[in-house]
Amino acid sequence: MDRYQSRRKGTTTMKSTVDHPTAAKPFVANQERMKWHDGALWFVREKRDRQAHSIPEWEYLRELASQTKAHTQANLAEYLEAFERQATAAGAVVHWAADAEEHNAIVLGLLQKNNVQRVVKSKSMLTEECHLNPYLEAQGIEVVDTDLGERIIQLRDEPPSHIVLPAIHLKKGDVGETFHEHLGTEKGASDPKYLTEAARQHLRDRFLNAQAGITGVNFAIAETGGVTVCTNEGNADLGASLPPLHIACMGIEKLIPRQADLGIFLRLLARSATGQPITTYSSHFLGPREGGQLHIVLVDNGRSSIRDRDEFREALNCIRCGACMNTCPVYRRSGGHSYASVVPGPIGSVLSPAADTEQHKSLPFACSLCGSCTDVCPVKIPLHHQLLAWRQEIGREGLLPVSKRMPMKAAAALFARPRLFAVAGWFGRFALRVLPHALTHNRLNTWAVARELPIAPKKSFRSWYRDQDRPANSLPIVTPDPESSPTKNR
Ligand code: SF4
Repeated sequence: MDRYQSRRKGTTTMKSTVDHPTAAKPFVANQERMKWHDGALWFVREKRDRQAHSIPEWEYLRELASQTKAHTQANLAEYLEAFERQATAAGAVVHWAADAEEHNAIVLGLLQKNNVQRVVKSKSMLTEECHLNPYLEAQGIEVVDTDLGERIIQLRDEPPSHIVLPAIHLKKGDVGETFHEHLGTEKGASDPKYLTEAARQHLRDRFLNAQAGITGVNFAIAETGGVTVCTNEGNADLGASLPPLHIACMGIEKLIPRQADLGIFLRLLARSATGQPITTYSSHFLGPREGGQLHIVLVDNGRSSIRDRDEFREALNCIRCGACMNTCPVYRRSGGHSYASVVPGPIGSVLSPAADTEQHKSLPFACSLCGSCTDVCPVKIPLHHQLLAWRQEIGREGLLPVSKRMPMKAAAALFARPRLFAVAGWFGRFALRVLPHALTHNRLNTWAVARELPIAPKKSFRSWYRDQDRPANSLPIVTPDPESSPTKNR
């Protein structure tokens, strides 16, 4: 059991290497569910496309967001200090955490100091990353996730499978069973309205009895010291407003310079995430509510080391919209749990190896390099280039398995020798023509389960090119071609 799987158990010591293809097997084995999952996420992707195309300045907004984030990263220390000054002036208390352990200790300290036993929490990927729930539960503090999707998976003792749609791997029948078991709803009930109403009643009671509310932060504004939290259910508002203690936990990359910049990101976020023009609630907190306390915990937890690396720095621009997951052909067909990481999909495959390269070395290869993630990213993170950069780094560090290392060595040797390459090309075309189909398509070759080999071309590209009418000054072909070898017509 690794840290990720043990999220609800409070056991956070063992680590195991994630092999994405192996982890995806159970999900892929259920073809019907896999197709449904693929379709559900593609539906969200299409909604996003309609919203993006509905505003002419979409690309301008993306560029503006990308440049704003790059500017903020370049001046992060100044902006963080400005944020602390302004937030403090507004009455909040700012805490700094170098890593997850420190973050958890700060939160626990605040709760204990205020004699808190019951906490409501709105969705926060940072607290997932820090494994805050099991940590607090191990100290006897009840933590109730109040985002509906998060609450469903909390009741099921599962990790989220998506950063915006944490229970997207579940169907309404699964939710009905879970609610019947934990909330006492009717057996077999799967009507979403009925189930949502049951969840509402259940959560309302938790809100009213909570002694503290923990929220994530979508954006923190250096100019004002305020934080903004976006939800569709209003749960962050209730969690931050009903109990007297509000703790907002954020990664240091959530900062933006000015209040005026917020509009750019709010317009991009909801459109990219769920295809809505705006999230139903964009809640702005500036200082504590009357008679209450607001604590803001700023967390590094590896972000500074990503910021130090030119090839991966832009990954910190991520606003956690999930659009790259919704469009990724691998994520849609392998499910979020196959990444065994709090943030799955393309951005997770960039961030996770930065946290532990050995453990997550298979993730950058869970990608077809189609570039669709880069195309939809609202802050223009060059995701597929970063995934390629990780593959190179993993190769350089000698972390590739033999099954990848040896073919790559062979391919490198082949590509470095034009004559050998030409002979191999001839042999490949010959083999494609004469090999019996059963030799390649049998139970032993899983690659061929859903794939066919191409029809062998009659001649190589080189030979085809030589036969074309070309301008007199075009480059001649200098390497010999075995097409002219005596075996050509066999
Ligand atoms: S990488 Fe881009 S598309 Fe993916 S979650 Fe982050 S902001 Fe959204």
